[in-house]
Amino acid sequence: MKLLKERILKDGVVKPGNVLKVDSFLNHQMDIDLINEIGKEFRRLFPSDKITKILTIEASGIGIACIAAQYFHVPVVFAKKAQSINIDGEVYHSKVESFTHKRTYDVILSKKFLGPEDRVLIIDDFLANGCALLGLISLVNDAGAAIEGAGIVIEKGFQSGGQKIRDLGIHLESLAIVDSMTDTSLTFAE
Ligand code: 5GP
Repeated sequence: MKLLKERILKDGVVKPGNVLKVDSFLNHQMDIDLINEIGKEFRRLFPSDKITKILTIEASGIGIACIAAQYFHVPVVFAKKAQSINIDGEVYHSKVESFTHKRTYDVILSKKFLGPEDRVLIIDDFLANGCALLGLISLVNDAGAAIEGAGIVIEKGFQSGGQKIRDLGIHLESLAIVDSMTDTSLTFAE
């Protein structure tokens, strides 16, 4: 997505540890006009009218998923990062290792909001090693729901997540795939 790539080049900042900061427009301060275009692009890439729900994970995915959902006319449900592992029977749960915070979270999702009748589009801001997405996929599988696809705003193509998800046969669309990044340069796939 040209607009997004231009914005990453203009305002993205590379931090030590392979972290790309895009907090001036995507996941802290949010440029709604840009995210609106992102939502439209996800709709173009996932035109199926069978999608019943958009699933994301707190916190950064929520705003993006909500804006995108206006083009799908389906509810957004988000996995919550649980503080404790006291899980009752009313939730699906899985574990996610956070790339940016270097710790493992239990994530939970109420059984009320996802079931075997659902066809799910997963949306998130970043794909790095794939832990967040694999955690969400596990929740969908536990619910007996179907995965229509996964839409990612920025994939870091030099990390392993994209390959893992594509190897599962999941329809993965990333709007910008970063091939390499250093303090002074950043390149995209294609
Ligand atoms: P993964 O689970 O694929 O390793 O990492 C994905 C999650 O980590 C995303 O939900 C995102 O919040 C965070 N993340 C991974 N890499 C980056 C990055 O380079 N920059 C930012 N801002 N977040 C990242």
